[in-house]
Amino acid sequence: MYIARDIPLVELHRHLDGNVRLETVLELGRAHGVKLPANTVEGLRPYGQVQGVTPSLMDFIAKFDLLKLVFIDDDAIARIAEENIEDAAREGIDYIELRCSPAFMGLQYGLEPQRVLAAVCRGVQAGMKRWPVRANVIGIMSRHLGEERAGSGDCPASRRCGGA
Ligand SMILES: [Zn+2]
Repeated sequence: MYIARDIPLVELHRHLDGNVRLETVLELGRAHGVKLPANTVEGLRPYGQVQGVTPSLMDFIAKFDLLKLVFIDDDAIARIAEENIEDAAREGIDYIELRCSPAFMGLQYGLEPQRVLAAVCRGVQAGMKRWPVRANVIGIMSRHLGEERAGSGDCPASRRCGGA
């Protein structure tokens, strides 16, 4: 297939909270003393990445069980967000829309969704300063996490922190 080089490469649907490098999971887990199901990247792979054909959406979502262990604090979340921009840059992407559920990301360690979103935005903005990628963040309201955690007052989806 021929892809014209002068047309911008755009990705409109990537889940930032589902795109965490296994190396980062390992490093953050070690730095914060988090018990992980394995101690090597290869050992973590079956827990963190969908392998081959997946029977159901829930099997896919189960991978988030590993990733949520490393949404530890503002710096960890900002790092993961910044690495999403770096990953996009390395894939040659010019513009990306990154989705995340701040309520889900904050659940494991009791972080407020607004705080999570602020950390995500900080990382995305830092990434855009370092890499030639433009990005916007779309906050997902997780209704199944309850009305309050969905962020009824200050709708995360109404906040913009991207540069596009
Ligand atoms: Zn999606």
